[in-house]
Amino acid sequence: MNILVCNVGSTSLKYQLIAMEGETVLAKGKMERVGTDRAEYSHEDAKGGRIREELPLRDHGQGIERMLRALIGPVVPSLDSVDCVGFKVVLAKDITGVQELTEEVLAAMEAMNGIAPAHNPPYIAAVRQFRRIVPSVPLIGSFETGFHRNLPPKAYLYSIPKDYARRGVRRYGYHGASHEYLSGRVAELTGRRDLKLVTCHLGGSGSLAAVDAGVSIDTTLGFSLQCGIMHNNRCGDIDPYLPVYLQETEGMTLEEVKTLLTKKSGLLGLSGVSNDLRDIEAAAEAGNPDARECVETYAYYIRKQIGAYAAAMGGLDAVAFGGGIGENSARVRELSTEGLGFLGLDLDRERNRTARCDAEISSATSRVKAFILATNEEIVVARKARDFLSDPGA
Ligand code: ADP
Repeated sequence: MNILVCNVGSTSLKYQLIAMEGETVLAKGKMERVGTDRAEYSHEDAKGGRIREELPLRDHGQGIERMLRALIGPVVPSLDSVDCVGFKVVLAKDITGVQELTEEVLAAMEAMNGIAPAHNPPYIAAVRQFRRIVPSVPLIGSFETGFHRNLPPKAYLYSIPKDYARRGVRRYGYHGASHEYLSGRVAELTGRRDLKLVTCHLGGSGSLAAVDAGVSIDTTLGFSLQCGIMHNNRCGDIDPYLPVYLQETEGMTLEEVKTLLTKKSGLLGLSGVSNDLRDIEAAAEAGNPDARECVETYAYYIRKQIGAYAAAMGGLDAVAFGGGIGENSARVRELSTEGLGFLGLDLDRERNRTARCDAEISSATSRVKAFILATNEEIVVARKARDFLSDPGA
């Protein structure tokens, strides 16, 4: 069985075609700057095929057609060899888990566009384009909220009138595929499924989850993707009264506040350098005090959250770092775990600096294990799609 996994961003399309027997990646590629005359396309396949080109891509539909030309013929003989397309979809009203992406499910996603404006609309449009271009191939969505579906009320309730929770205003949590992958991988590496684990998905968008015996019991993203630790451009947790103050006292409009908090904040806003941690770390090294403070603040949020989740779970056995920042920034991992010796976590600084994924970076005597892991959201989505097709009711 071959499953094509697609990750749709507002201006990007990433894909992997996976042969599920042996979980072999037959091809993978990405298109960036979709919607412009100069989109960038890169693709490589297991037979040695490689594409690097700049091309006009008006929309995701044209991107899908280009992707299929790279796959059908060079990689697999025909569309009949693609058994399903799996999507890492974000959020739908009253729906989570794994779903066939029918019009009804797309409508439930549309109902949540207001809180996932950068994520839901491009997905919905791309799924409809897939349906038009490949009508015979099942389109299966794995919702990012799915892994957090068992949060207890004390973790998902907000302290506002309860009626809002009944109407769906509650913590949902996101990055489910990554947290699920990280926790499954730690279980494999340690041979234990009963761990109290904190998974740290640190990418352009980041979140932590408290995973107790494989079940997410709390997580830092909430109703929207705007809260929790700071993100590349989004502010994360701030005083909820700040938007009111900015409008009432500073005279900003609602649109200006939204732009400030979702596009100009986070790593970009605090560092004043870039939304990319690589640039910020380089500026910090070069002596920029705002950049240094930004890295320290970013890591401090993570450290506080690891402590909070150890308290929430009543213990801590392991911490896992993944995502572009989690995998690559030794500095963030070091600062995020500094001072956690009282919880039994002692990092091996040398291993932390030199190790590459997948690796244990805690010291030989550390009771709590720490890992750097290469998260693989695509394989989680592909496995879920395969399981759904073999038993949709499971
Ligand atoms: P996304 O959330 O968009 O999928 P990734 O998980 O790929 O993103 O993470 C992207 C981020 O990872 C970049 O914005 C950058 O800040 C960070 N990153 C990537 N490589 C490094 C590195 N070598 N050192 C520090 N940060 C890095």
